[in-house]
Amino acid sequence: METITDVELKRAGFYWREIDGVRALICAPLEDVGFTNGFSTRLGGVSPMPQAALNLAGFNEDAAENILENRRRFLKLFGGEWTLGGCWQMHGTDVRVIREAAKARLAEDARGDTIYCDAVVSDAEQVLAGVKTADCVPILIGDPETSSFAAVHAGWRGTHAGIVLYALERLTREFNAQPESCRIAIGPAAAACCYEVGSEVIDGFKERFPGAVDLFMPTREGHARIDLLKANRDQLLAAGVAAERIHTAPLCTMSRADLFFSYRREKQVHGKVGRLMAVIGRMGEEGKGKG
Ligand SMILES: [Zn+2]
Repeated sequence: METITDVELKRAGFYWREIDGVRALICAPLEDVGFTNGFSTRLGGVSPMPQAALNLAGFNEDAAENILENRRRFLKLFGGEWTLGGCWQMHGTDVRVIREAAKARLAEDARGDTIYCDAVVSDAEQVLAGVKTADCVPILIGDPETSSFAAVHAGWRGTHAGIVLYALERLTREFNAQPESCRIAIGPAAAACCYEVGSEVIDGFKERFPGAVDLFMPTREGHARIDLLKANRDQLLAAGVAAERIHTAPLCTMSRADLFFSYRREKQVHGKVGRLMAVIGRMGEEGKGKG
């Protein structure tokens, strides 16, 4: 198993936060400009996936009381009072806008309270925009100039469709956020060391993106490993985000099944796979007093 030192993490712009055995990866530069943020791990929860797992979604695969307890533990890492705002993810390009905390909700639960999309944008205080992943790429965007932010879910389909650009464009349209002032954290995901895809995916990317050959490392006939992190980073760079403002976590969910849920690693082994969550928001002055 690869190990990564805190020094390497810090160099990439990240550090671990842990309370009562619940651990999350925090992007320091995003936090430094006012955005509470975190990428969950599987550590410190109550779900039997296979044990003591911090599963944060998937009511068809885990008991609601487990998921809700896990979410409560996860939110303790961020202090204060937050409302989670999310969606039922579709591997598409729709974006949800949350304008006030009172209207935020996770929008996918046992009651069928559902909004379908793959990115959540907001500028409301005490809202944590969140996306759920287990190998797909979680991307958090914060614009300190307008205090607006976004959480994005980008698997290979979403990456191919450019979901991160839809989110960025929506931040601009709704809140006048400019790509040049955004700071971005790309979280733990199935990385180029592990994530093999077939010719359907390879051909799709090569048709759409001129430089796509750089995203693939050939393996066996008709297959290659894909670098979805680079694919999203390239899209952000092309949109005008400065390279030094994009922070990529040097952690692969497939390599580090001890820390993260990995759909590709675990589906065959355990049958059901937990979900990680990546969240971003800003507390505002009012919320700080309640923490
Ligand atoms: Zn890997």
